[in-house]
Amino acid sequence: MAKQTVRDLDVKGKRVIVRVDFNVPIKEGKIKDDNRIVQALPTINYLVEHGARIILLSHLGKVDHKDPAQKAIDIAKNDMAPVAAKLATLIKTKVTFVPVTRGTELEKAVADLKDGEIVVVQNTRYEKGESKNDPELSKYWASLGDMFVTDAFGSVHRAHSSTVGIAEFLPSALGFLVEKEVEMLSAAVYNPKRPFVAILGGAKVSDKIAVIENLLTIADKVLVGGGMAYTFLKAEGKEIGKSLLELDRIDMAKDFMARSQGKLILPIDHIVASAFAEDATTKIVDNDHIPADYMGLDIGPKTIELFKHELLGAKTVIWNGPMGVFEMKPFAKGTLEICTAISELSGAMTVIGGGDSAAAAIQLGFKDKFTHISTGGGASLEFMEGKELPGIAIIQEKK
Ligand code: ADP
Ligand code: MG
Repeated sequence: MAKQTVRDLDVKGKRVIVRVDFNVPIKEGKIKDDNRIVQALPTINYLVEHGARIILLSHLGKVDHKDPAQKAIDIAKNDMAPVAAKLATLIKTKVTFVPVTRGTELEKAVADLKDGEIVVVQNTRYEKGESKNDPELSKYWASLGDMFVTDAFGSVHRAHSSTVGIAEFLPSALGFLVEKEVEMLSAAVYNPKRPFVAILGGAKVSDKIAVIENLLTIADKVLVGGGMAYTFLKAEGKEIGKSLLELDRIDMAKDFMARSQGKLILPIDHIVASAFAEDATTKIVDNDHIPADYMGLDIGPKTIELFKHELLGAKTVIWNGPMGVFEMKPFAKGTLEICTAISELSGAMTVIGGGDSAAAAIQLGFKDKFTHISTGGGASLEFMEGKELPGIAIIQEKK
């Protein structure tokens, strides 16, 4: 069974609540990157063209509800007004911003909506009950609309009022962005064309345990680079110098390797550095030759060749986690080369999940070179873990 999508709803003249991800970076009232707003436009434009009365809900940043002084700072900082203003420049219909999350001003703005017009509601996290999925709040928000559409992929792993609670009271559907994410990630995780190669990296094993676990059971090969490779190498008895190590995960790493039946492939050489710094002294060394006072900050040239070789012929590739400290130029090569190798595979479905991995690929110029770059950091990780995402699970199935 598939979930309903916005195309399955009869939205003409209806009040449609859309949970979008407008959690954009803002500095001194200016939006630094409007990509998340742009990503939501296909769904919003579809609803405008089909005469819906659109109510947009999103969170923006974090709001501390425990410490009153901090709460005041967070509320001032995370005002949705500039976001609504930005949206108004990207769309050809009337956009009304309501600076509150409940009450007569909001209710009146919704009642005044004409077909094809938009109300943007203040930051959902101004409400204490939002992140607790408070039924009273969910019910109130649901009372403003006739139907609910989820298009905030970056938030579907959270069971909040605006992501899950409202959907309990209204007919519901996926927006185009979430539909595409589900389609792409499911094709890779649940129905991969083989050979299926997963490439995992990033900082810590502990962040990725469930991802490694799930991908080891479904992928044909799991290539491990980045900081987390060192805990695995240590588990194999190698000296890793000052490289990132999670002592309390060594046994788990051993267990993964024992169970992996040769699927799990580790780096064979490294770029090591005298310090965690751009201008550190660096060396290229094989396993067993990492000096005691150096740390591994990128995979080495032999590992790049090994990983490229493992990728040959792959029909599905999932990549999560940079191969090195790509933020610093001397340690970006591994990530760049692996990115290039994946993007050059012919006829392969190639998917990137994870916030920093997506940022790395985009920063290195690979924005259009993958089948799919997920917009949801934590959500895409949980998807790769094989977990059910509450914000998707709650959406009605197609009739
Ligand atoms: P994602 O957000 O895609 O899931 P992670 O958050 O797990 O990825 O990891 C990204 C971080 O891992 C980057 O900031 C990168 O600098 C760091 N990293 C990669 N390799 C190493 C390494 N060898 N040592 C320390 N940090 C590393
Ligand atoms: Mg990250």
